Amino acid sequence: MNPTLTNLAYIAAAILFIVGLKMLGRATTARRGNAVSSLGMLLAIVVTLLEQGMAYEWILVGAVLGSVVGGAAARLVKMTAMPEMVGLFNGFGGLASLLVGWAEYHRQAAQSVSALTATWVAVCLAVLIGGVTFTGSMVAYGKLAEKITGKPILFKNQHLANGALLLAVLAVAVLYVLFPAGALGYSLLMVLILLALVLGVLSVIPIGGADMPVVISLLNSYSGLAACAAGFVINNTVLVVAGALVGASGLILTNIMCKAMNRSLANVLFSGFGSAASAGGGAAYQGEARPISAEDAYLLLEAANSVVFVPGYGMAVAQAQHAVRELGQLLEANGAEVQYCIHPVAGRMPGHMNVLLAEANVPYEQLVEPQDVNPVMATVDIAIVIGANDVVNPAAREDQQSPLYGMPIINVDHARTCIVLKRSLNPGFAGVDNPLFFKENTRMLFGDAKATVSALVAEFKGA
Ligand code: NDP
Repeated sequence: MNPTLTNLAYIAAAILFIVGLKMLGRATTARRGNAVSSLGMLLAIVVTLLEQGMAYEWILVGAVLGSVVGGAAARLVKMTAMPEMVGLFNGFGGLASLLVGWAEYHRQAAQSVSALTATWVAVCLAVLIGGVTFTGSMVAYGKLAEKITGKPILFKNQHLANGALLLAVLAVAVLYVLFPAGALGYSLLMVLILLALVLGVLSVIPIGGADMPVVISLLNSYSGLAACAAGFVINNTVLVVAGALVGASGLILTNIMCKAMNRSLANVLFSGFGSAASAGGGAAYQGEARPISAEDAYLLLEAANSVVFVPGYGMAVAQAQHAVRELGQLLEANGAEVQYCIHPVAGRMPGHMNVLLAEANVPYEQLVEPQDVNPVMATVDIAIVIGANDVVNPAAREDQQSPLYGMPIINVDHARTCIVLKRSLNPGFAGVDNPLFFKENTRMLFGDAKATVSALVAEFKGA
């Protein structure tokens, strides 16, 4: 294929990626954005195949197998298990880059041509970042899927050991770039792969389950960087561009999530948040929770002029979003102003609550940001918390000893009345007790969120 045509097609593919990414920024255009980016990827793949004049058979087998597995996984995965799947896919992206680097070593060796130093540097980066991404993502998957403990796994001198390992990795990488040929080069590459895999495991095990969303988006960024390095290895411009886009957007998301938790990235990666040591502070809050029946909660809601719904992970578990939407409509019909306030880390993945509420056709105009609703929360008649816990925990504001201290929350306790829908007084994902349940103005509506919201709907309809 003519190189100019190839490059033009690659530019078109890159434009499609960027336009698609931009469209992902709005819920109304996100689905189309996905399709646009996929079209870019299809174009990139077809052009690469034509340009390289490759034999198609094995590539087709791989593409069909990958599509079947990916399609089935996407259909079968539960919404609540989405972060695990993203973690797995990141890991496979890293593994693919590692294999590209490794394969390039063999290709160069087979052709016995002396590649440029830049190629060996790129091979090193692809193998190193790809390896760390692969095993790091597998550990993150294990923690999220509760296959291994979600608590930080800590040991003595851990930071020192990780630092030493990182230095060893860098030393081996430099040696490899200096002596890439022959048996020595191959042994160095194998040691590098091994060390990268170990580094991936050791750098993620000390991070607690509650911080996994940040880790997943960071690993997503790594998988992009690994792909970018692989693009340099095989001299493929569009892979460099796509990798850089994933790398940059992953970093931006990581930054947004850290801000939402009011933590620095260093704190997330190195503090062992959620371990016995870090959870040492924070009071075990005592007091009397005030349970309320659906009938009484209905009477409160019926008299309310303004209601803010605050959904959390429990709404996803109960699949209560449709019932919540129906209740919202009934409240509106009753004359109340209804809003939905979503915390950036509510649920188990970025945008989790937005997806569920969009699925239930909650109008976008009714969605509000915590920073917009918090200043006027005192004027809200009822804040109704649907299976959220950590993101409404006032200890984050009030208790300097609490591990959550400093995390911006939705100040539902400042509303005139707060009704919390959950099944018990158990803590949320971070395992931190919640003083909200014992506040004067809080009422606990115990039970599965879908059942209790449906009971409220029934009360409204029966009235
Ligand atoms: P939490 O995990 O803090 O709390 C969820 C609450 O839902 C639980 O306390 C539980 O209480 C309740 N619940 C569970 N099932 C039901 C049900 N069927 N009906 C009613 N209630 C139910 O959720 P939040 O959304 O407030 O906070 C998210 C947490 O998850 C944060 O700590 C965040 O850092 C972390 N996280 C976020 C990710 C993200 O990307 N958004 C990814 C991974 C973790 P009970 O058992 O009493 O019913």
